[in-house]
Amino acid sequence: MGSQSFPHQQILVKAQPLEGIEVKSESREELLLAIEQLRQELQDIKGKKAELEISLEAARDRADTVEVLLRKSNQQLQAEIAEKLRLQAELKAAQTELQSVLANLNSDKADLEMILETTMAHGDIVEDLLHNQCIRDPLTGLFNRRYLHNFLSKEIDSCSRQKQPLSIIMLDIDHFKRCNDTFGHDAGDAVLEEISLFLQRQMQNSEIVCRYGGEEFMVVLPEGSLVDAYQRAEEIRQGVKELAIEYQDMSLDRITISLGVASFPEHGKTVAEVIRAADVALYHAKAKGRDRVARPEAIY
Ligand code: GH3
Ligand code: MG
Ligand code: MG
Repeated sequence: MGSQSFPHQQILVKAQPLEGIEVKSESREELLLAIEQLRQELQDIKGKKAELEISLEAARDRADTVEVLLRKSNQQLQAEIAEKLRLQAELKAAQTELQSVLANLNSDKADLEMILETTMAHGDIVEDLLHNQCIRDPLTGLFNRRYLHNFLSKEIDSCSRQKQPLSIIMLDIDHFKRCNDTFGHDAGDAVLEEISLFLQRQMQNSEIVCRYGGEEFMVVLPEGSLVDAYQRAEEIRQGVKELAIEYQDMSLDRITISLGVASFPEHGKTVAEVIRAADVALYHAKAKGRDRVARPEAIY
């Protein structure tokens, strides 16, 4: 080496301006300071980088947590949507059912309105119909036993006040069971209807006829004496015997009846007593051979 050189001189040499770049001449201390500053800045940058990396890591963790939460809330949302859809379907089904119930109700309401209108317009007819249903026998159309008891009770009171007699005729078809057995129950019904029509035709003045039971009838003669009753009973017996009853092109056997007569106040002072006396007389007519009229006296 021809010339001795010092380190700072070498730096100075290296610090020679390059092409187009202006390099200031610095002292060694200044350069060392600059280097130290650079190192310090590098250290800061590293520190910040580490901090940033920690923040990035934390952000990544948070992002994972957020993702999990999002997934969960998404699942929850989907479950809620499914439940909502199910409820909507249920609601729709309930609405359809409600509509059908409503339609039925409307139809019932229309029917009821029509009935109400008819009832208002023909109230008297409906009242008569209901009244008749209460007091008449459905098969024969004759008064029923309930009506008979009311009627008899009132008539006995009235005859008692006016010191008048009242008589009844209790009649029963002979061997009616045989008629049913031979021709059938419907033919038996036809016989009951025919005899009822005949009895109704026979009624005079204030007389009434009722269906007392199965094939038993009762005629009431207000203010009628026992003699009147006996005579009317005989007429009825003869008339029934002459009836030619047909059922579905079949000529049924001739019908005979047995009759018992009794009078108020002679044979009883109350409805029950007079009916019982007539029943006893009827029993006597049956016992004597049927197809006849009997009075209570005949049994004593
Ligand atoms: P008797 O001469 O002793 O009165 O004999 P009977 O057969 O008439 O009397 P019985 O009491 O043995 O039978 C009465 C019959 O009347 C039996 C019953 O089935 C019949 N009967 C009662 N009610 C009705 C009815 O509404 N329709 C019909 N077809 N038959 C009836
Ligand atoms: Mg009979
Ligand atoms: Mg009988």
